[in-house]
Amino acid sequence: MTETLIRGRLLSFRRAPAHAADTQSFLYEDDGALLVANGIIQATGTYADIKAKAQADTIEIDHRPHLILPGLIDCHVHFPQMQVIASYAANLLEWLNTYTFPEECRFVETAHAERIATHFFDEFLRQGTTTAVAYCSVHKASADAFFAESLKRGTLMIGGKVMMDRNAPQGLLDTPQLGYDETRAVIKEWHGKGRNHVAITPRFAITSTPEQMAMTQTLAEEFPDLHIQTHLSENKEEIDFTCALYPDATDYTDIYARYRLLRKKALFGHAIHLSEREADAMADSGAVAVHCPTSNLFLGSGLFPLKAMKRRDKPVTVAVATDIGGGSSYSMFKTMDEAYKIQQLLGERLNPLESFYHMTLGNAVALDLSERIGTLEPGTDADIVVLNAAATPAMRLRMETISSLAEELFLLQTLGDDRAVVETYVAGKASKPKAEALRTEA
Ligand SMILES: [Zn+2]
Repeated sequence: MTETLIRGRLLSFRRAPAHAADTQSFLYEDDGALLVANGIIQATGTYADIKAKAQADTIEIDHRPHLILPGLIDCHVHFPQMQVIASYAANLLEWLNTYTFPEECRFVETAHAERIATHFFDEFLRQGTTTAVAYCSVHKASADAFFAESLKRGTLMIGGKVMMDRNAPQGLLDTPQLGYDETRAVIKEWHGKGRNHVAITPRFAITSTPEQMAMTQTLAEEFPDLHIQTHLSENKEEIDFTCALYPDATDYTDIYARYRLLRKKALFGHAIHLSEREADAMADSGAVAVHCPTSNLFLGSGLFPLKAMKRRDKPVTVAVATDIGGGSSYSMFKTMDEAYKIQQLLGERLNPLESFYHMTLGNAVALDLSERIGTLEPGTDADIVVLNAAATPAMRLRMETISSLAEELFLLQTLGDDRAVVETYVAGKASKPKAEALRTEA
């Protein structure tokens, strides 16, 4: 068994921080180390303790003075939208119809899906993100390409073949039966293969007929342990259109509730404009609201009340995500920088401990995967990110005046990007693509 000792400043959350000075909520070791073997963290502690446990031939990697955290987690992205990011549109529905749907049509071709999958994994690992929850396109080939690449990289990824059977171009439509059959085929072929997880993925109520929603309910009942992902309450025009399509439902959330899709491990992208009744229904069911700040600002969708959602008598579980390609950055630092600004506009404060909790353990808890990822606890998967808060001249200069861990994290969040990611370990293997090795294709 080849062991690796990874040395640096360890930071790993134990629970959600209660306030900006809640030092009990995390483990911090100034001269810490991890012992990694077989893709698993075997031991976590001070360098002296870990060194004493290590075998004589253990490979030692010294990342001092950098921070070592669990790999970052992104709870909502669209794998086929890498060539949609940075599209100029007035709002969600125009953006979907003008740019997104035509682009997703290209994923009927396996070669295209495989090419984009390679870029997708390169980009996420470059940003320090080791787990993403992805919508593929409606085509089974896109899910096959996504999961095959994930298997090759050894990553823990969650993905799903999108089901959609109306209100989109012909090339993007399945049928209730085809969506069901292909989702079952994707589950059979990929769920549990390597570290892959398959999610049941109706795009949203606008693009699924009641017949397809009923088939989604059947899938959800047949596979009660799988994740479910869809979109909810992103912008006003979308809400009105959706509710008109399901006139019997009380509100947008009730549409999904009627098909029994509100449950633990069900991820609802955006959920910005929920009523109190809807937020209660989310909280009661254990469903997750996935906050996508750069996307919400980019598309002008609205300001998600993150702090208020967590402060309710019945708190709603919140995850955070980039929402590529409606989102405007692959970086979880930029994502939380924008989340912070949205709370500022709402008169709330999001402290840096909370931000880093959300992109690691918080997202792992929301996914019900904290036994495996989002932490540096021994026995969990060795998905690890190494961060340098002095990665650029401007960051280096600002670091001269920084005197606490919380300040350093806030600097990383505010000025950091992929340049601050020194290394990304996937199951113990150094996996950050080098900048000079950027793929060149004829
Ligand atoms: Zn989305």
